[in-house]
Amino acid sequence: MLPMKIEKVEIIRSAKRTKSVSARLRGDGVLEVRAPAKLPEKELEQVIAKLQQRIERRAEQASASGSDEALLARAHELNQELFGGRLQWNSILYVDNQSHCWGSCTSSLGTIRLSSRLRELPPWVRDYVLVHELAHLEEPNHSASFWSLCSRYPLTERARGYLMALDHLQGREGSDETC
Ligand SMILES: [Zn+2]
Repeated sequence: MLPMKIEKVEIIRSAKRTKSVSARLRGDGVLEVRAPAKLPEKELEQVIAKLQQRIERRAEQASASGSDEALLARAHELNQELFGGRLQWNSILYVDNQSHCWGSCTSSLGTIRLSSRLRELPPWVRDYVLVHELAHLEEPNHSASFWSLCSRYPLTERARGYLMALDHLQGREGSDETC
């Protein structure tokens, strides 16, 4: 995850650069700016201020999309799109202590938990896990009717493959990728 705030700006002037200024935010919160040697200080300051704003906004958005509020909003959307809005639940949250499963659903309580590791993965993979757990609200077991509910999400097969490969790479092979 990228840091939310820029702690420090480090400017690297280069004679080889002629026009453009480039910047990257390092993991330690330092914004590394590469600029042409000849660019006037004042101009560079303006460019950096703009870059800084843009980078911080992007980091904020990224973190907002990984929030429980955003997850809940997505669950409502998927409920409308794929389940005709008929599903009901008590709570849907990210949790840190789910190391065996990407997601879980306790259908009797109406609670869904998603591993916070999903925040780092593409949103369409997270959506599949969410659909999987939503489907468990109606079908607690991995029955044929459960999978037919899941397959309403068009990227189900692709996302399962993605998670299987990831489990394989990280040595979690053999575990059911989504509980
Ligand atoms: Zn399942």
